[in-house]
Amino acid sequence: MARVYNFSAGPSMLPEEVLKTCADEMFDYAGSGQSVMEMSHRSKEYQAIIDEAEANLRDIMNIPDNYKVLFLQGGGSTQFAMVALNLMNKNKKADYIITGQWANKAYKEAARYGNARAVASSADKTYSYIPKTKREDFDKDADYVYICMNNTIYGTKFAELPDTGDIPLVADISSCALSEPIDVSKFGLLFAGAQKNIAPAGVTIVIVREDLIGNAMDITPTMLNYQTHADNGSMFNTPPCYCIYVAGLTFKWIKKMGGLEKMKELNEAKAKVLYDFLDNSKMFKGTVVKEDRSLMNVPFVTGNEELDAKFVAEAKKAGFVNIKGHRTVGGMRASIYNAMPIEGVLKLVEFMKKFEEENA
Ligand SMILES: *Cc1c(COP(=O)(O)O)cnc(C)c1O
Repeated sequence: MARVYNFSAGPSMLPEEVLKTCADEMFDYAGSGQSVMEMSHRSKEYQAIIDEAEANLRDIMNIPDNYKVLFLQGGGSTQFAMVALNLMNKNKKADYIITGQWANKAYKEAARYGNARAVASSADKTYSYIPKTKREDFDKDADYVYICMNNTIYGTKFAELPDTGDIPLVADISSCALSEPIDVSKFGLLFAGAQKNIAPAGVTIVIVREDLIGNAMDITPTMLNYQTHADNGSMFNTPPCYCIYVAGLTFKWIKKMGGLEKMKELNEAKAKVLYDFLDNSKMFKGTVVKEDRSLMNVPFVTGNEELDAKFVAEAKKAGFVNIKGHRTVGGMRASIYNAMPIEGVLKLVEFMKKFEEENA
């Protein structure tokens, strides 16, 4: 069976080793005579799975003890509301940096519940850069400052965090989680939908400082209150059991590979291959300013829509799938998450070179 190189922005590739373990354990998990899919979430076997997943995540991300790890449902998008409902309740104010669609959606959702303010935006140049901010730009009374750390659609990432002083920083890390080390202690809250770099769609991981839990607005539905899940070890109701199991396998795989330092090294090597080619190509161009380039999502264009479409179609035939840009941006986008081997990127660049020669 031939596997394609899948450049999808999400759901996206998973490590083959993880998929193989899933296959091996599908009918009988560790002698239990059941698939993890069929297991009671209240069983001893399952408790061990979720405990081990959390322990390994804490280990690879070096998560301090005063942070809770929650395994939730509802995707990254549900966090847009949860963050506001739970955190925007001291001064009812929050500052947002608008770096693309995901940040904008989060901002609009928060504006339904309080005084959300767009402090900075890169909309003027189609989100092709990260706007600079200074500490004075933020409202001292803001309950938090919100960023989307890696902008999946536009291919930018915060190389440096905004200086927010004592104001808790909240970050959507859906498309860069586990791609490189991150200092969790610099954040009040981090969240990531799993389907980009961790597991199948269905689980969202929230890492939240304990003092930010327990201050939700009265209108907050029980299921959207972090306290509910923190108090119950993510088992207030049935969690996304199978997704958490796969996430746990991914964490183990990362550990075995050498942790986040190693991931960073591999991801930088992969991204360099692609960006170096784009910087030297006469046909293909990257769309993002160099200093804000994402390691995970690499958008590029030929400048000619017909040629873009031809490239996407021929790439697909050659086994490079899901390379079309986001429907709102056009062009191409290669998402090169942890599970994409460097051979995939090398072969893609080879293919691009050939396409350039043939279509010059
Ligand atoms: C994909 C994505 C989301 C949305 O995730 P869902 O799980 O589909 O709700 C949010 N933020 C970022 C940065 C993303 O890449």
